Amino acid sequence: MLVTWYGTAGFRIETGGHVFLLDPHLSRSAGARPKLPFGLEDVGKAREIFLSHGHFDHAADVPHIARRTGARVYCSTVAAEALRRQGVPGAQLVAARDGDGFDFGVYRAQCFHSAHARFDLSLIARTLVRALPSVLFDMRLFSLLRHWPQGQVLSWRFALAAEGDRVVHHFGSAGCTEDELARLADLSAPDVLMFPLQGHTRICVVAARVVERLNPRVVIPHHHDDFYPPISQAVDIAPFVRAVGELSPPVRVVELPVCETVEI
Ligand SMILES: [Zn+2]
Repeated sequence: MLVTWYGTAGFRIETGGHVFLLDPHLSRSAGARPKLPFGLEDVGKAREIFLSHGHFDHAADVPHIARRTGARVYCSTVAAEALRRQGVPGAQLVAARDGDGFDFGVYRAQCFHSAHARFDLSLIARTLVRALPSVLFDMRLFSLLRHWPQGQVLSWRFALAAEGDRVVHHFGSAGCTEDELARLADLSAPDVLMFPLQGHTRICVVAARVVERLNPRVVIPHHHDDFYPPISQAVDIAPFVRAVGELSPPVRVVELPVCETVEI
């Protein structure tokens, strides 16, 4: 399969000539790092878009992409309602719940309820010190926060028939519960786990423990970029790589450069 990381939790996946997108977000603020070599207009064809939740850094570009590509969007009911308010036709929206499955021939998608990362006090305090007072005058940010409610968080599991049923599991936020992990650990181990490194001071340890539980062959860390400074900041993933090496030595960590298509 061909994988392109768009920054944040966004990915393009191409398998068997079929393209689908996960949490695509390319309209970053001017100071975002790394700079992306292309923008919204450069997203080519896509048949489906899957959303982990409704926050702006996952969903705000979807109306534009859905309009240009005609892709159907699979997301929570709250995210679907927000997208409808932003002009996405109802015929392109599919509200998904835990256990729902969708068969697209060359791949299948399955939806699981998940949870949002719970921002810890230390992270909140550091963000406030860094971001105030500039956010008080950031009207775009207020608009994004107001129009894009979180809704139910979902994780998505894909079985790629064109790749011998290889399994890819994507999380867009890192708050998965013990019950959820126990349930997922009972399934076959994913070949590729995509897990976000954002939203908690100790995210590298949190994420490494998820890797230990789910035991993928490959883990792709994401969302560690500085996508909306000053409310975001880059996360150093070196402690995650070290922790995975200690807890789950057979698991390969693959760090993708932004907007480069890589065969995995
Ligand atoms: Zn979020």
